Amino acid sequence: MLNIVLFGPPGAGKGTQSERLVEKYKLIHLSTGDIFRFNIKQETELGKLAKSYMDKGELVPDQVTIDMLNAEVKKYDNPNGFIFDGFPRTPAQAMALDKLMQSRNSAITMMLSLHVNEEELIKRLLLRGKDSGRTDDTDESVIRNRIRVYEEQTAVASEFYQAQGKFYQIDGIGDIDDIFNRLCHVIDSHSMIM
Ligand code: ADP
Repeated sequence: MLNIVLFGPPGAGKGTQSERLVEKYKLIHLSTGDIFRFNIKQETELGKLAKSYMDKGELVPDQVTIDMLNAEVKKYDNPNGFIFDGFPRTPAQAMALDKLMQSRNSAITMMLSLHVNEEELIKRLLLRGKDSGRTDDTDESVIRNRIRVYEEQTAVASEFYQAQGKFYQIDGIGDIDDIFNRLCHVIDSHSMIM
């Protein structure tokens, strides 16, 4: 199995690159942000709870997020692998993910971290906010808070994978195809696809 954690700040391009990676490597894409947004649309209890955090650019509490992710993963019996997009966002989530994979006799293959500077992130998110309908992308103070939350709470989660020798940083600036090729190059040279 090829289980990838696609990592990076808001606006780094995780969603865009996930779409392509899913197609090429036949993986299941699990985006916690997308699952929360689906729940908000369906007006579920989970959606109502998540919205109160997302509107401010804060993280949804760990246990809520971990339980939701566990339930999603359980829906798939024997996939080629998963792309986790937007998860884990804290060290506690990283530990929970390892446990979950272990319980399935599997493991995270690698973390691919897209590196993009703050100025470019804000530019991309404001642009996305114009037509995505995502309210967290229209307010610059919410965007800045999300980037601050990433730096203060999320970036440390990468140390978990660095310690296991599974961390790879990729330049997330440039042409979408070029960035995709950079990602594929790392995947193809560092994973054994069974
Ligand atoms: P982006 O990475 O562009 O900010 P996402 O769609 O990944 O967007 O996430 C949007 C929001 O959903 C986050 O700001 C956060 O409030 C919530 N969220 C998503 N994933 C997680 C997670 N793993 N833990 C806690 N909150 C999350």
